[in-house]
Amino acid sequence: MLVPSSTLTVVRTATELRRAVDSARALGQRVGFVPTMGALHAGHATLIQAAAADLDAVVVSIFVNPTQFNDASDLKNYPRTEALDFEIARQAGATIAFAPSCDEIYPDGFATTVRPGAIAELLEGEHRPGHFDGMATVVARLLGLVRADVAYFGRKDAQQLAIVEQITRDLAIPTEIRGVDTVREDDGLAMSSRNRRLDRAGRRRALAISRGLFAAQRLADGGERSARTLEAAVLGELAVQHLPVDYVSLVDASTFRPVDALDRPCVLAVACHVGDVRLIDNVRLEPALVVA
Ligand code: AMP
Repeated sequence: MLVPSSTLTVVRTATELRRAVDSARALGQRVGFVPTMGALHAGHATLIQAAAADLDAVVVSIFVNPTQFNDASDLKNYPRTEALDFEIARQAGATIAFAPSCDEIYPDGFATTVRPGAIAELLEGEHRPGHFDGMATVVARLLGLVRADVAYFGRKDAQQLAIVEQITRDLAIPTEIRGVDTVREDDGLAMSSRNRRLDRAGRRRALAISRGLFAAQRLADGGERSARTLEAAVLGELAVQHLPVDYVSLVDASTFRPVDALDRPCVLAVACHVGDVRLIDNVRLEPALVVA
């Protein structure tokens, strides 16, 4: 049973964070970690609940990382709802909220960039230059600051999750990474902090994304293996709503390289624009079992 923590300790500095985590460890507690950029919604709450179910202490970080935004207006318009975030985090079972300033994360003299390599050049990496370097660098630093036993990341950002798994492996970061399935609104739209920037018409048009992905999923379940056909199922729905597309691509689930056929575990990934809001979503597809 999940028991929401009655108190949430809010810390702003690395020193305060270390003290709070050390206190938890001194009580013999194991520590979970959920990094976020705030504007928390039920998707984030699900990650926090997963951490609270598995571990005793749960750190949630709230930091809108400027270095992973390649678009200045996206950064400026990113929703910031800190007081509400603390309440959602507490109710979901977090015990420590780390809400640092930019200087705390990037103090004077900070000079390192983590470059995750080939996987970060594809899809999101291609369309958001520098995004994954910024993400990988801040995640490596946050993992170093929190020193959690387990950290939780959403499959909504499947490429990000794969990159985080790679950097923790490559840099021997001693935190286990766990993925959590995408949480969706009742009508299928993947929850995202950016959804609150959609107006009523945009919200309706954005449904084409999940509708297309679910259509492709049904085709795959029925035995369809052609990448072009699966991608076309999504593109068709996006076209009906005239949503400009960055990519719709069937990729290998571990390398994120495009594939021609669903002949291994894959991710069908989408990025498109609804007005001035850029949304991403994906489904994991497996080759259908062929019964002889
Ligand atoms: P963000 O605040 O958007 O950087 O997201 C923080 C974490 O929450 C990341 O690991 C995301 O993948 C995860 N997340 C965001 N939206 C969802 C969702 N709808 N379902 C599951 N996880 C999510």
